[in-house]
Amino acid sequence: MKRILITGGAGFIGSHLCNRLLKEGNEVICLDNYFTGNKRNIITLMDNPYFEVVRHDITTPFFIEVDEIYNLACPASPVHYQYNPIKTTKTSVMGAINMLGLAKRVKARVLQASTSEVYGDPEIHPQPEDYWGNVNPIGPRSCYDEGKRCAETLFMDYHNQNGVDVKIIRIFNTYGPNMNPDDGRVVSNFIVQVLKGDDITIFGNGKQTRSFQYVDDLIEGMLRMMNTPRGFTGPVNLGNKQKFTMLELAENILAITGSTSKIIFKPLPKDDPRQRQPDTTLAKDQLNGWEARIPLKEGLARTIDYFETFLSTKRTMEPSISH
Ligand code: NAD
Ligand code: UDP
Repeated sequence: MKRILITGGAGFIGSHLCNRLLKEGNEVICLDNYFTGNKRNIITLMDNPYFEVVRHDITTPFFIEVDEIYNLACPASPVHYQYNPIKTTKTSVMGAINMLGLAKRVKARVLQASTSEVYGDPEIHPQPEDYWGNVNPIGPRSCYDEGKRCAETLFMDYHNQNGVDVKIIRIFNTYGPNMNPDDGRVVSNFIVQVLKGDDITIFGNGKQTRSFQYVDDLIEGMLRMMNTPRGFTGPVNLGNKQKFTMLELAENILAITGSTSKIIFKPLPKDDPRQRQPDTTLAKDQLNGWEARIPLKEGLARTIDYFETFLSTKRTMEPSISH
């Protein structure tokens, strides 16, 4: 049994990771400040005596004896990371310093949840790990992109200078149950809009592409990366190779739900990347043949089921003020 700290553990990806690591017989400490995370994501784990929850903000130091740290704390949706951009950079940079300092002190292995956003609006397609990216340092996405890039720098410098056992993964667009309905990212937005009978909001002409990975594939890749031999640091891309336009995504969701919601077009946000697709050759080579396996249609169906239940449960639980 290992003792494992997961920062951002009450968020979308973090909650799946808590669940999986507990199922594998580990002791899990979930740290979160609940900025975008929610207790309901981890409520079913609360009865497990090997699960602990700590309300804490990783911009301040945290002391604990652990074997492994998964550093996920950081808002991931553009809407939320742009709400307080200075805080977003602090979370990535000071959070990385605090977690790396902790890892150094207690000799823990530490994994950084980095992002495909380090490639910015990429000019090389698909993106291999040795591509340095095309990032605007002073735009609305910079707090997130540059914060995550600086965190990668810190991870490599703590590794090279202090021998800290680090792992870096670059996560491409991931979706699934436990996303917040108000998250603001495209998959949850479209699904919630369709389930509520609202219009689907496509930003721009809808021809920009993304590669959507179902969360279970990512969790498998994260665990495999954490368990690679010491010295293999990454970064490693983790994403689904299949790419879709936002129009195709909307059409898939309409087809699965049989909804008649209309598609409407809204302005494209500034610096919105035109294309993104992972080169996953390294992940396949280093992570025992890892590949994202769950097709978009299947992952969407599971996510739609989740939101259907979530929205209907929430409705019946809400006290009615008209009574
Ligand atoms: P999320 O917003 O659901 O989860 C982030 C969690 O971190 C939340 O629970 C939030 O409350 C917590 N948090 C934020 N700031 C914190 C702070 N200062 N101290 C403590 N906790 C804090 O997002 P997610 O999709 O689960 O993303 C998890 C991680 O994976 C993030 O680091 C994100 O950058 C990275 N990532 C996600 C994706 C994706 O597509 N989902 C893609 C690339 C990278
Ligand atoms: N998008 C959209 N409608 C929405 C939300 C997002 O068309 O309601 C677009 C967004 O402009 C981007 C893509 O979907 O081109 C993916 O956006 P998301 O915020 O999910 O993630 P990103 O990859 O941009 O970080």
